Amino acid sequence: KIAVANVSKSFPDARGEQLAVLVDINLQIHAGEFLCLLGPSGCGKTTLMNLMAGFENPTSGILTIDGLTVDRPNPKHITIFQDYGLFPWRNVLDNVILGLEAKGMKSKEARAKAEEYLELVGLSQFARSFPRQLSGGMKQRVAIARALAVEPDIIFMDEPFAALDAFTRYRLQDEVLRIWQEKKPTIIFVTHDIDEAVYLAQRVVIMSPNPGRISRVINIKLQKPCDRGDAGLTAYRG
Ligand code: ATP
Repeated sequence: KIAVANVSKSFPDARGEQLAVLVDINLQIHAGEFLCLLGPSGCGKTTLMNLMAGFENPTSGILTIDGLTVDRPNPKHITIFQDYGLFPWRNVLDNVILGLEAKGMKSKEARAKAEEYLELVGLSQFARSFPRQLSGGMKQRVAIARALAVEPDIIFMDEPFAALDAFTRYRLQDEVLRIWQEKKPTIIFVTHDIDEAVYLAQRVVIMSPNPGRISRVINIKLQKPCDRGDAGLTAYRG
């Protein structure tokens, strides 16, 4: 369980004065939950995620995961960013293998695991391709395979689909949902896209800016994946 208790975060602004970015955030996230952090640009979603992931430390308050204080990144937690973060000079399979070896897995085992997860995201036949030969959606699939292959307890996703077209975004949203239902990691998904948050999450935490606070928490009770409620856009299913 992730527990955020009375957490505030300030950064120095251009004049060196402390600017409050997050104020008094309280939030508990249960193991296996799919939670979206939703809010307008600049409200502090990424900052809150970075605190939970241990990339930053709070100015005040405390964050714990399963009772332990978060003060640095944990190898059992994985972050997926909007820009994929692939190694351009390594092929798709090696990108996934390197992710596993970085977590201490032996090469033979890493190779088998990488192949399994590339299959899960439908990229087996692109294992020998290089990132530059893939579309944006395929690159993000590789990043998802690399992240999931380490079988993390917690996956942090920071607007991972924001740069993708709606067809690809919808397909990847359904893929992430399918994988979440199968493997049940805890997913913390940052987005400013209201439809995306409602579609994906079990619980949506809405943040307001200046300074960033939690303004509302909504439980979503849709069956997932579900009809997106827009006949025109369901065309993406082909
Ligand atoms: P977006 O949707 O645009 O990514 P966000 O809600 O994720 O926005 P953050 O990236 O968390 O927002 O940024 C919130 C505020 O904190 C912004 O005003 C930003 O300038 C400021 N900020 C974030 N990181 C730093 C930093 N390392 N140093 C100074 N200011 C920062």
